[in-house]
Amino acid sequence: MKLLFAAAEIYPYAKTGGLADVAQALPKALSHTIEVRSVMPLYRFIDRKKFKITPHGNSFSVTLAKRRYRISLHRGFNQGVETLFIYERTLCNRPTPYGDKNGDYPDNNLRFGIFSKALVKIAQMYGVDILHLNDWHTALAALWTRESLPYFRTVFTIHNLAFQGLFPRETVARLGLSSAHFTPEGIEYWGQVNCMKAGIAYSDLVTTVSPHYAEEILHPQFGCGLDGFLRLHKHKLLGILNGIDTALFDPQHDPALPHHYSADSLQGKKQNKETLCRELGFTQTDAPLFIFIGRFTQQKGLDLIIETLPALLNTKLNLAVIGEGDPDMGSKLKEVAGKSDNLWLFQGYDETLSHKLYAAADFLLMPSSFEPCGLNQLIALRYGTIPVVHRVGGIHDTVADYEDDFSPDICGRGVAIREYDTRGLIEAVHRAIQLYNTAETFAELSGENMQCDVSFEKSAKRYLECYDEILNR
Ligand code: ADP
Repeated sequence: MKLLFAAAEIYPYAKTGGLADVAQALPKALSHTIEVRSVMPLYRFIDRKKFKITPHGNSFSVTLAKRRYRISLHRGFNQGVETLFIYERTLCNRPTPYGDKNGDYPDNNLRFGIFSKALVKIAQMYGVDILHLNDWHTALAALWTRESLPYFRTVFTIHNLAFQGLFPRETVARLGLSSAHFTPEGIEYWGQVNCMKAGIAYSDLVTTVSPHYAEEILHPQFGCGLDGFLRLHKHKLLGILNGIDTALFDPQHDPALPHHYSADSLQGKKQNKETLCRELGFTQTDAPLFIFIGRFTQQKGLDLIIETLPALLNTKLNLAVIGEGDPDMGSKLKEVAGKSDNLWLFQGYDETLSHKLYAAADFLLMPSSFEPCGLNQLIALRYGTIPVVHRVGGIHDTVADYEDDFSPDICGRGVAIREYDTRGLIEAVHRAIQLYNTAETFAELSGENMQCDVSFEKSAKRYLECYDEILNR
């Protein structure tokens, strides 16, 4: 079986969030069984020399609304997985994948239209059996495939339904889409073009990144306006849980860590905490260390954290926050951090620093309001850091409260936020601190979590079964 796995970001070439992690780890896990190639845009910020990316094959062009876009193909290897890179000026000549401080690039419809059209051509060139598309940036490929290559099989994975690729109606003409698709059954959404709808409507299988999220999005609360549309396509909707690359996230060998450790010996974790607390200037080194890593958005519950900061910082704990996003949230945090000696803030994206934090922390704060899967809690489990979570979406499938009955389907244990409000968060943090003060139970839980299977192997098997099933239809 030949698979082409397409995403707008793949670690380590470009990463803004979990999509990049999954687009690296899943193809790698699949490549043990089938022939897999990944494909992504060759953004201008990608270091071709460092990643040994070289020109590959002839260039070709794609046509959108009678305009031809010239594409050159490049190639690299990502831990053994062949990765194809598409270079086209409009798509790639940007400092970041999706936007800058002024918001998303206004021509993202054209950019990812070009990307999606090129995917169909590459899938044909390589004679692949399955084209696996991820998120809205690739979704129009399902529509064009359905139009011109109906024998072709496509899988579309929703990593986050909140990002749908909504553009003005003129997109139909700009991308040369057939107006027959601009209907409520197709890509039309309240008078606009909705790229995510193309992936849902025209793919053979639609997956989400956790089983619980697949159920949640069928309801208005989590459906982001597409719950009705998804209910219509429920017969081909399936939730498959994400994993992480346990070789990249490995406290025994992670090159980012000053001290390595394992479930059998947590001494290195303690040393990492001491080193980091010193570096970050925390004075109370015996206090529990909480971390938050992620986008500054309401989705990640940062608004709730900010609201509870006065109470949290009055407690004996240290909190380290890294991330970027909403400027208001950023400046509120900055203001408080400037006045507190137990809140440390880094605004930006730093992979190495994030690994150090996962390894040093006692608790990961993850009060997401919704969470398609969430990788942070899986990484935290792997590093023996106890997640303090709101059990929605994929978190519901991966972390149970440590005081609840053991559930064999859920591997990790942490502290659940029972009520989603400031009181609920404070109560969960207090329970976490009680746990921390019960040193033996705390260490036991941390060690047990480290032994959870958070790899991609189980899920890769499930994807393979699905590919087989749609090929044999
Ligand atoms: P998202 O919804 O943002 O994709 P996920 O939980 O699926 O969230 O994945 C987030 C990934 O991005 C994790 O690997 C996390 O460690 C990483 N990450 C998020 N923000 C930062 C940051 N500021 N610096 C470094 N890594 C980050």
